Amino acid sequence: MLTEPERSIPVAGEYDVVICGGGPAGTAAAIAAGRGGAKTIVLESQGCLGGIMTSGMMPKIINGIGKGGFLKELVDRLAALKSEIVNDVCDPESVKYLFERLCEESRVDVRYHTGICHVLLDDGHDGSRIRAVITESKSGREAWIGKLFVDCTGDGDIGRFSGCSVDFGNPETGRMQPSSLCAMVGGVPYDRIPEFVHQGTGKEDERRNLFALFEKLGKPTSYTLPSLFLLDKAGRYIYMSTHQYDVSPFDAGAVTDATIAARKEIYEQIRALNGSPDEVWRPLKLYATADRLGIREGGRIKGLYTVTVDDIREGRRHEDAVCSISAAVDIHATRPSGDSKKAFSDGGIEVSTYDIPLRALISKEVSNLLMAGRCISGDFYAHASYRILGGAVPMGEGAGKYAAWLVKNNFVPSAGTALEFVRTHKTQNGEQEVFHG
Ligand SMILES: Cc1cc2nc3c(=O)[nH]c(=O)nc-3n(C[C@H](O)[C@H](O)[C@H](O)COP(=O)(O)OP(=O)(O)OC[C@H]3O[C@@H](n4cnc5c(N)ncnc54)[C@H](O)[C@@H]3O)c2cc1C
Repeated sequence: MLTEPERSIPVAGEYDVVICGGGPAGTAAAIAAGRGGAKTIVLESQGCLGGIMTSGMMPKIINGIGKGGFLKELVDRLAALKSEIVNDVCDPESVKYLFERLCEESRVDVRYHTGICHVLLDDGHDGSRIRAVITESKSGREAWIGKLFVDCTGDGDIGRFSGCSVDFGNPETGRMQPSSLCAMVGGVPYDRIPEFVHQGTGKEDERRNLFALFEKLGKPTSYTLPSLFLLDKAGRYIYMSTHQYDVSPFDAGAVTDATIAARKEIYEQIRALNGSPDEVWRPLKLYATADRLGIREGGRIKGLYTVTVDDIREGRRHEDAVCSISAAVDIHATRPSGDSKKAFSDGGIEVSTYDIPLRALISKEVSNLLMAGRCISGDFYAHASYRILGGAVPMGEGAGKYAAWLVKNNFVPSAGTALEFVRTHKTQNGEQEVFHG
């Protein structure tokens, strides 16, 4: 260990709301907070907004198409750009462009290539509170002061850095869901390979066909249901075919090793398809691999409420609901099996449409910390259902609106203000505008 000498850190900005991480949840939160009149910034470690939808190259919106609020706006604005959504999959470049335009329109500041690595805490009368987050970038170390912080890092980094209680992995085994590196491929028209392109019908025939082909070529994929998601019929696809096991998102070395292994696997898979006896695969090209490994599961920060497996089974509703979810439990195999029937499971849990209460987005231990997206308060099984874009986006929207409302009224996050916020919106709009279900 080395000891860093004490030094002063420049304050790069002072905001009402600091959004930590600009994925789907963070971008929705930032836009909602900006529109609510709060001075807002998004701090993002990658070079674009959108998280898994863009830099992670997995833009398939599960349990979101047909919902209202910002999700509807997103779909409508993509349509206005003539950017097609095929089987719930949208074009990542259009999402990048649109998210930046929407932030601009909502007067949200955006800072890219800036990773949050630390927090400065104050002990206030209402417990521990975050004074500033500390970032590292080409500009060096900088401090960002805020009234409210929203952890949208997916992994719960701000909660971890603040010393919050954070849950990880399966309670029985401690294992987290595997990661996958996604990619974009193309060059083979859809009508030449429909039997290999994921149709999203619930049957897995096309993915099994592709896995069987890889087995025949002597290159079985680590994700045993390799998937081609159609982007456009001319022949552009999102491709997901790898599982990297036991990768801790909090270990940059492990994430690096997994990324390199996955990228090698993808490259070699495409080469194997190119060499297939079936000539249809010859023109297939690897257009790009994602900039970042797709992490399904990180830390889940303890909130005022924890969404549990009983909640999702029983379809529990809440007065302070920020959105509702009906997505199935999706637990990807936490160990390699080589068997396509074991690629993922629902854990034997049948989901009844349930609510995410705003309390699950409020930290139990840090008084000015909210969460949205993957890192909200929930157990392993509930997370395996709500960890989808149709959850992340409305959660972000709800957290951003709530944050702006708190700042405007000089309130603090609590069960009481959460309920009042939802009720206020009911009164003002004749319906709960943060409900999307
Ligand atoms: C391989 C894979 C496939 C998936 N498939 C689907 C699917 O088909 N459909 C679906 O609906 N959902 C799918 N999901 C789930 C989807 O990823 C989540 O719904 C979504 O990522 C949650 O959004 P988020 O904003 O919480 O997290 P993320 O998308 O992970 O966004 C977090 C953002 O925070 C940034 N960040 C993280 N740490 C820091 C830091 N310390 N400082 C600054 N910035 C930081 C990241 O760069 C990122 O932009 C999939 C997930 C994976 C991994």
